[in-house]
Order: sequence, then structure tokens, then C-alpha cells
Amino acid sequence: MQLGFMKRESLKEKPADESKLGFGRIFTDYMVMMKRDKKRGWYYAAIEPFEDLRLSPAALVLHYAQEVFEGLKAYYTEDGRILLFRPWENMKRMALSAARLSMVPFDGEFLLNSIYELVKLEKDWIPKAPGTSLYIRPTYIGVDPFVGVAAAEEYLLYVILSPVGAYYPRGLEPVDIFVESNYVRTVRGGTGTTKAGANYAISLLAGEEAHKKGFSQVLWLDGVEKTYVEEVGSMNIFFKIGGEIITPSLQGSILPGVTRDSILRLARDMGIPVCERRISIYEIEEAQENGKLEEVFGSGTAAVVSPVGRLIWGDKTITVGDGNMGKATRVFYDTITGIQYGRIADKYGWTHELRL
Ligand SMILES: *Cc1c(COP(=O)(O)O)cnc(C)c1O
Repeated sequence: MQLGFMKRESLKEKPADESKLGFGRIFTDYMVMMKRDKKRGWYYAAIEPFEDLRLSPAALVLHYAQEVFEGLKAYYTEDGRILLFRPWENMKRMALSAARLSMVPFDGEFLLNSIYELVKLEKDWIPKAPGTSLYIRPTYIGVDPFVGVAAAEEYLLYVILSPVGAYYPRGLEPVDIFVESNYVRTVRGGTGTTKAGANYAISLLAGEEAHKKGFSQVLWLDGVEKTYVEEVGSMNIFFKIGGEIITPSLQGSILPGVTRDSILRLARDMGIPVCERRISIYEIEEAQENGKLEEVFGSGTAAVVSPVGRLIWGDKTITVGDGNMGKATRVFYDTITGIQYGRIADKYGWTHELRL
């Protein structure tokens, strides 16, 4: 397949103030569009103007949520290079997500090369202010005009780009988290390991209720025993207890985050003891009582890390460390953003530099 190109009549105005970008509201001039049907297989791939989609109201995705997505970023370095961070991991994960939702396979290498071409074309949309980046959102949907329950045969796979602001314009501040013991995000055997939009739809209500109570996010416990910690909001979670970094092991209900994996690697290389295992909320409470709960933070592409100050569990408050962001949290944040923005040498081969 060849990647075609459809030129726009006129280009949009780019945002003038990079301090007001926010997240995910502004989109660039172009997108990648790929199409598949039963007869021809993958028959279309092009960089096209960013435009509204035309779908049948019966399109399968609108009824049965056959949709998966990814999220990654392109970063401008101070010396004018453009870097992507471990983008092939996002392609692999998207393939696994698609397989779990019975969607037909796609060519991940072709998709990744199309993303490179799109970002190169749209490079003037990559913001340059510290902490800003160009968010890349590949989206895959089943679109047959058919309301019978079945896997789709017609698909759209597209990639849109959005310049995004610094996640922490005022610095990293620890947040209060509500330990969710009513709703669950997923269970083992479900779709928690995939980036399916449906996972997000079902987690919104818990988030909204937590917001109303004054918390920024929920801590998800396992869906069976409501005891073992899984994730925080839509991020993976880490604990530092008595000098050891602990994160829940990937046992079939946790999203395998690229940031999570990068932190584990960095911690091992820095000689910090690390462990992937089940960890219960009771163990966390006990660690706090013994003065050993040193740090808690979430991890994900959007924020890199997000420090947790307190966990509110029923009528109990579990305060983390001294309430300030921990040292290890800071080191992971600085090292990962340093590699992403080209300030720190990438000895892992994690970054891909776009050749302009
Ligand atoms: C995307 C996502 C993460 C973080 O993954 P990264 O690859 O680090 O961005 C964690 N949990 C959930 C539920 C997610 O959807």
C-alpha cells in the first residue's frame, strides 16, 4: 500500500499562545486515514485534511463500541530535533487491543511510518515552550452499517494530532485520591489490558463522583476482592515502601503502560530495588502506620508521573511520606522527560528522531 496525499485548500491558524494550549482541543491541518473492507482488504491510506467523518448512523462502533486507540507524543528538543518516545510499543499495544476486540489486524509498521510522515508534514504545529508537545492519537473503529452483533468487516484507522500544553504549568503537586470500593474498572479476563474507549466510558462515573467529593481521581481496586490495587484514574501506579519500588504486576486487568515499563527499567538501572507483585490496600495502610510509605505516584504518557499526597479510603486517610513529592518520583520525571526532550542521552534507544 502507498500513502497518498490530499492537499488542503487553506491552512488553519496555529495557536499563538503556547501557554494556553490545554489538552486535546486543537487539531492540526491533516490526519492519516486508512480504510479496510471485506472485498479489498486494506485498500486506502492517505494523509488527508482533518475533517469530520461521515458514518452511517448504524455504524457498528456507535452501537457496540468496537474502538481502540493509542496515545503518544512528538517532542521538540532545544536543538531543533523532533523525537518520538518508544512509538513502536504503542503500535504493538494497539495490535493487541484490536485483537482483543475482534478487529482485523493492521500493518503496524506501515501505520508507524505514516505517523512519521504526518508529524513531519505538521512539524510547525509542534509547540516549543517547555513541557509542551504534539499529542498523537491513532484511532481504530469498525464502521459497517449493520446493527447485528458481530465483528466489523469495514474499518477506519486514522491518526489525528493535537498540540498540547505543559501538564504541570505550576509544577508537580501531590493530589488527593479516593479509594474506589464500589465501582470497578475491569476484571481479569475483561478488557483492562487494552486501550479500548469502552474502558473509559465505564470509568467516568466513579471519576465524577470522586471529583464532587473534592478528589482528583480514583484508586481502582481489583474487581473480585476489592483489595488489591490496580491503577489510579487512567494511569499505572507505583509505591515506594521501605526503599523498594512496587507496582502491581500485569495479571490480566492492568494496562501495560509504556511509562510504567520505562520507570521499571530506570529503577533497576539506578539500583533501586523494584518488585512487580500484587499489593493490597491493607498493606499500604500498614506501611503508612509503620512510617514506611515513602512515595506513591501514577504514570502515563500525558503527565509522565503524577504524585499522590493522600489516599482517602472510607473514613481513613493514608498520608504519603511528608505530603510532598518524593525524591524517586522526581528522578523518574526528570529522567524520562530529559530523554523525551533530548536533554539526557538516550542510552536505551527509546527515542526515534524524525529525519527531516
Ligand atoms: C494509557 C493508559 C495508561 C498509561 O499508559 P502509557 O503507555 O504509559 O501512556 C495506564 N492506564 C490506562 C488505563 C491507560 O489507558
